[in-house]
Amino acid sequence: GAPRDAAFFRHWLTAVAEAVEEEADRLTELDSAIGDADHGTNMRRGLAAAVSAVEEERPPTPGAVLVLAGRTLVSTVGGASGPLYGTLLRRTGKALDDAPEVDLGELAGALRTGVDAVARLGGATAGDKTMLDALLPALDALGDGLDAAARAAEKGAGDTVPMRARKGRASYLGERSIGHQDPGATSSALLFTALARTARA
Ligand code: ADP
Ligand code: MG
Ligand code: MG
Repeated sequence: GAPRDAAFFRHWLTAVAEAVEEEADRLTELDSAIGDADHGTNMRRGLAAAVSAVEEERPPTPGAVLVLAGRTLVSTVGGASGPLYGTLLRRTGKALDDAPEVDLGELAGALRTGVDAVARLGGATAGDKTMLDALLPALDALGDGLDAAARAAEKGAGDTVPMRARKGRASYLGERSIGHQDPGATSSALLFTALARTARA
């Protein structure tokens, strides 16, 4: 696929921040059903800080952009999602090393490393009703392109509705977590829809 430089990755983060801003109320509403009603607020604060940081520092490579964004998420988001998304971006960024440009195949490989790190950190696997239920299907679809990955992430988020939560706050609800869409899977889908949109622009 087309090579992407540091500016592309800054634009991606900006697009994620915009999508999170637009969907913040929905994310918080989903989290009020099976969590503590702060996912929209958490994500909004973290992404706004991440965008500010990369716009100010302008790291020279895609990897450095993602590492800085991930570090910023960890330090600005108090909830579980801060360290988890922070790990996703930091580990994906580290896997890209200091390449000035990366293509879709390289990004897919790096994202695989990042998502693996999220799974290890949170101890969750597919079907536990977490962000992984959007991230894993998106990764699997990336070989078919960014639009396919975005669609797979959205479907994955929707597919969390009938699941029973086995990780995170929602797991405290047991059976009562069934019938609600996972907030973190929903924000993970925004990550991939924003990526597809940024590549199209
Ligand atoms: P908190 O639960 O601390 O309030 P957020 O509301 O910001 O944090 O994020 C909740 C989301 O984090 C959940 O919807 C879920 O997708 C994700 N999550 C929570 N725990 C885990 C975990 N162990 N592994 C993967 N994702 C998790
Ligand atoms: Mg919460
Ligand atoms: Mg919280």
